[in-house]
Formats: sequence, structure tokens, C-alpha cells
Amino acid sequence: MRGVPLTVDDYRAMIGALIPPTPVTLLPLEDCLGLVLGDELVSPVSLPPFDNSAMDGYAVRSVDVAEAERHAAVALPVPVDIPAGKTDIVPLLPGTAHRIMTGAPVPPGADAIVKVEDTDGGEHQVAVLAPSSPGTHIRRTGEDVTEGATVLRAGAVLGAPQLGLAAAIGRADLPVHRPVRVLILSTGSELVEPGEPLLLGQIYESNSVLLAAAVREIGGEATVLRFVPDDVKAFHKTIAGHIDKVDVLVTSGGVSAGAYEVVKDALTGQGVDFVRVAVQPGGPQGSGSFQGLPVVTLPGNPVSAALSFELFLRPALLAAMGHPVIHRRRVRARAGTDLRSPSAKRQYRRGRLEGDVVTPVGGPGSHLLASFAASNCLIEVPENVEMVAEGDLVSVLVIN
Ligand code: AMP
Ligand code: MG
Repeated sequence: MRGVPLTVDDYRAMIGALIPPTPVTLLPLEDCLGLVLGDELVSPVSLPPFDNSAMDGYAVRSVDVAEAERHAAVALPVPVDIPAGKTDIVPLLPGTAHRIMTGAPVPPGADAIVKVEDTDGGEHQVAVLAPSSPGTHIRRTGEDVTEGATVLRAGAVLGAPQLGLAAAIGRADLPVHRPVRVLILSTGSELVEPGEPLLLGQIYESNSVLLAAAVREIGGEATVLRFVPDDVKAFHKTIAGHIDKVDVLVTSGGVSAGAYEVVKDALTGQGVDFVRVAVQPGGPQGSGSFQGLPVVTLPGNPVSAALSFELFLRPALLAAMGHPVIHRRRVRARAGTDLRSPSAKRQYRRGRLEGDVVTPVGGPGSHLLASFAASNCLIEVPENVEMVAEGDLVSVLVIN
């Protein structure tokens, strides 16, 4: 462990540099949610692809219905029915109407749609009760997208609207930065699988669940090895078969200054550096490359592990997956209470932001997981601030 602690920003940069970008690969649309487009998306079709009706009604020549009124209906024969999906389109003859449904192609010869509400709804003959000027209720070819247009740029984050658009132009897959593959391993001889009985001295293992969820929340792929006891041999044996199948190994626990620090014992001198970061919580950290695999070792206290992920890994993983925005939204808010913070460390307190006031939830302790779960933001108290008074402006990271 080095003498001088690293700053949060320096350590974040180190972790950022450790995890390389994931390659761009074609993935089916259903696997693309939340991922980043790796190339521009050009539409091979126009949208709409053909002139179509915006209403259920009748395709007509506007001149044929120009005189129509409620009390002087214009009667037209209806020789053709055009439901949506009909592909053999018969041209409209002057003096006739084709019954047409929303989305169905407007027949050649028609220049307007009369909506069904302005007719008697007749099947073989229709009484038109209102005029319809040229172009009425017709959705034009290419109104939304013209063939050959770029509809999404490289770097676009694929949410529901973007995926819907990709499907609408006929894409079944997209070139995306593939999900980063994260191997997660918790350590600690006190840990017990949730659902099993607990003895005094044991606790339920929660970090791997939290970390895997945090990875998946940003579109990454998490492989959870669950946990190993504080035993160097067991540690190496557990990760052995996985090293060449993932992009990064994230461990929790076993990196502080005590005895039985399994991660430290297993990885010291193996390409992983154990350092201190001037942050509370989450001071003891480790990172480097083990057998070519980027490794980030987080401290074991649940809130330390969670915050370390938040501060160091989350931006690095987002960047690796090509995200244009890797940091949380930051706002200024008034402190709802006084706060104390250790000198020379950047403190992150869990808080609730309501309007422009932020109130701490629970104390600074790194074991207070319920407080973390009840918070919607982190209050960032800078290294040179030891006391925040109620009403002072503070910097807040919005995490929920
Ligand atoms: P360590 O960093 O291994 O010294 O652990 C610090 C504290 O976090 C101890 O109280 C551990 O019991 C707890 N802890 C470590 N790993 C986990 C885990 N995976 N789930 C829940 N608590 C943990
Ligand atoms: Mg431990």
C-alpha cells in the first residue's frame, strides 16, 4: 500500500485507462437496449414507405366530393375495399370511392380521404356528407424518413424509441459496442448465501448481487462467481477458468489492512497494485492486470463496494461501451442539516434530494446499506471542507 493517497479523480482516470473499449458487433435488436450504436444507421427505405391513409374512411377524388354537405350528400359507388396490408392496389376510377382503413395504401387516382365519420359508412355505396380538400388525411411517402437518410448517429444510446425506429426501417440487428463482461467475486469466510440459515458471526453475502445489478443496469454482462472464503488457493481456483472469458474481474472484500486479506494476499506482486484513495467511504482499493485481465478490487463493506463501483467502475464501464455521457447528473442544492466530513478526504454521503434541498440519509458509516437503498443522491463534500452548515450549497450527484 502506497503512502500518499490518490485523489478520487486520479483513481477514476486509472480505472478508466484499465478497461479497453469493447468491440463493435452486430446484435439482434432485442439485445440492444441501453447499448450504444457503433456506426451510423442509414435507412434503406422511406417512412412511410407509401402514401397511406391516416383515417378509416374512403379514398376519393376531392373534386367528386367538393359539393358534399350534410343535407346534400354525394353518393358514390364503392367497388373496392382496401384493408391495411392489402398489396394489390386497384386505381380509383373517377366518380367512385374505395373504402380504406388506416395505414392502407392510397390508390392511384385518389387525392383525398373522407373520414368514415363524414359518411354513412356504406359498404357498396357511400353517402359522403362533407367535402375533403386535396391531401386531406393522407400520410405522404418519406414524410418521416427519406430513403438513404441517416436516422441515428454513431454514439446514439439505444432506448425504446431508437430500437422502435430501427425495426421500422427493417433492421433485425444493429452494430453496437457489445456489453462489457464483468466477472464478480466476493470474498469472506463470514459470508452465507441468502436463503440459508445464519450462525452468529456470519452475514448474508450481498455485494455480488448489488454489483451484478449495477453492471446490468448500465447494459453490462455480469458473471457472478458468488463468493470464496478468505483462502488464497480457493480464490485462484475459483477465477482460473474464467480469466479469458471476461473483460474485467471485480472483487469485493479482502483489501484492507487487517490479517486474512485474501484478495491482497492473492494478487500482490501479480500485477495488481493496492492503494489508498482519499475518499470516504472506499479508501482501500486495488487495481491492475492479472494474467492480462483488468482487475478492480473493491473494499468489502457494502456501501464502500457500491460507492467504489459508482465512482470508479461505472464511468469506466460506460466509456468502454462507447457511452457519450459517463457521469451522473450533478446539481447544486442546499444542505438540509449540518454535516461533518474528514479532512483531506472527499466524502460521499447518501442523501435525499427534494427540490433544491438535500438531506443526508443515515450517517457516514460504510455498512449502512438500508440508508443507501433509501437515498436518491450522493452529497459530495470536497477534500478541503470539514464542516457544512445547514443551508450551505453543496454538490449533489443524482443516482436515482
Ligand atoms: P473486508 O473488506 O473483507 O474487510 O470486509 C469489510 C466488511 O464488509 C466486513 O464487515 C464484511 O463482513 C463485510 N463484507 C465483505 N464482503 C461482503 C459481502 N460480499 N457481502 C456483504 N458484506 C460483506
Ligand atoms: Mg473480508
